Amino acid sequence: MSKKSRIKIRTLLQKAPVGEQVIVKGWVRTFRNNQFVALNDGSTINNLQVVVDYENTDEKILRKITTGACISAEGTVVESPGRGQSVEIKASTVEILGEADPEKYPLQPKRHSLEFLREIAHLRVRTNTFSAVYRIRHAMIFAVHKFFQEKGFLNIHTPIITGSDAEGAGEMFRVTTLDPVNPPLTESGEVDYKEDFFEKETNLTVSGQLEVETACLALSDVYTFGPTFRAENSNTSRHLAEFWMIEPEVAFCDLDELMGLAEEFVKYLVAYALENCADDLAFLEKRLAEEEKHKPQQERSPMGLVERLNFVRENEFVRLTYTEAIEILRRSKPNQKKKFQYLIEGWGADLQSEHERFLVEKHFKKPVILFNYPKDIKAFYMRQNEDGKTVAAMDVLFPGIGEIIGGSQREERFDNLQARVKELEIPEKDLWWYLELRKFGTAPPSGFGLGFERMIQFICGMGNIRDVIPFPRTPGNAEF
Ligand code: ATP
Ligand code: MN
Repeated sequence: MSKKSRIKIRTLLQKAPVGEQVIVKGWVRTFRNNQFVALNDGSTINNLQVVVDYENTDEKILRKITTGACISAEGTVVESPGRGQSVEIKASTVEILGEADPEKYPLQPKRHSLEFLREIAHLRVRTNTFSAVYRIRHAMIFAVHKFFQEKGFLNIHTPIITGSDAEGAGEMFRVTTLDPVNPPLTESGEVDYKEDFFEKETNLTVSGQLEVETACLALSDVYTFGPTFRAENSNTSRHLAEFWMIEPEVAFCDLDELMGLAEEFVKYLVAYALENCADDLAFLEKRLAEEEKHKPQQERSPMGLVERLNFVRENEFVRLTYTEAIEILRRSKPNQKKKFQYLIEGWGADLQSEHERFLVEKHFKKPVILFNYPKDIKAFYMRQNEDGKTVAAMDVLFPGIGEIIGGSQREERFDNLQARVKELEIPEKDLWWYLELRKFGTAPPSGFGLGFERMIQFICGMGNIRDVIPFPRTPGNAEF
């Protein structure tokens, strides 16, 4: 007889091969009455019930079947008399692969706060909440590539170490091999980066956009999906120092078409989750409902998680100019009654999360795409509009999150771009290659960046961005 191999719990529950002999392996969630193991191997949120033959199992082994222990069980698949599961295993043998001392194992079966679980990030994936988030995150990575693959976009890897700091002034992590105590100095006493590894100052990237534009102006439709780093000291529930960003860049595309692509893309991701992650979403919906019970009435969402996702999938996003948004905000109740932390006095103000969320959650009650922002609050490469005041930028705003996407049509006219670079005093020596793209076969490209973790937050209904990435990096936190 050939050696039996392990079957995954997901496959077992789907196929329900009653009568077959199988081997299952996984981690014990609970063990009741010296007999019933709830076993999970991460292939699905659902546990498999393994019924141990306690009369014929060594007492020593029975004692080691504890929450958190890793076991292997062999036995027959039988129909389950219990509710909520089709089959279970009648185990003939159980083997302990890894013990988990019940006195010390921190994940005993009870409710744990998300804050506590962050302190044990190496174990939290063994909870239902985090395993569901990890599985959905995986499914969304796949969906991102699937979406662009179906549209004929090419995936481009852009560098993680960058030599231009045009975008990230002051918010970048330096990359250096110089001795921090005794760095080489120039004659005028500054650190001499000519002596550094790359013979110049380098940083971790804040965006792959500038580099991916080079590919765009040859391959037409491209995208990056990579890690991004920002040393912004903002301790919010929506900012990480290390996060993942998806940045499509499309040649021959104007702002209007870009907004269409952004809306189609996020709806595709939401639909993919609804169609492929139903079990995990059902669990996270219950989790969220439970969490919301402890919140004051006015902070509770009127919709459950799945309803919210369907709502986004089925409704057209509102498109609104920045100027129109400012008018709405200026006249809004929280502004009149001075309830906003940052009051909107007039045109030109940078919108804060509280304003974005007011528009989305209170005023329109739908995702909103704001466009044509004042040029002074946006990046140098955005296309200048005829009015001389605004640029062809757009942000997609989501309920509970605020900005989830930021993008623009790019300034393709050399003279305009160079003038803007001068005006903002960005060193041209760092950007010569980017400017050159506008000299040789320029085209009007457009692109945006979607913050992957903010999207996962929305899909999973998780309030804090630290809970949708395996190992969050935030100010003061890089433990794991
Ligand atoms: P915010 O105003 O929220 O800080 P931003 O204007 O700095 O965002 P962009 O530079 O436009 O953001 O980046 C594109 C997208 O990347 C944002 O829409 C957001 O989804 C995501 N993003 C930006 N900064 C962070 C961060 N620190 N952590 C996680 N995601 C981020
Ligand atoms: Mn920011």
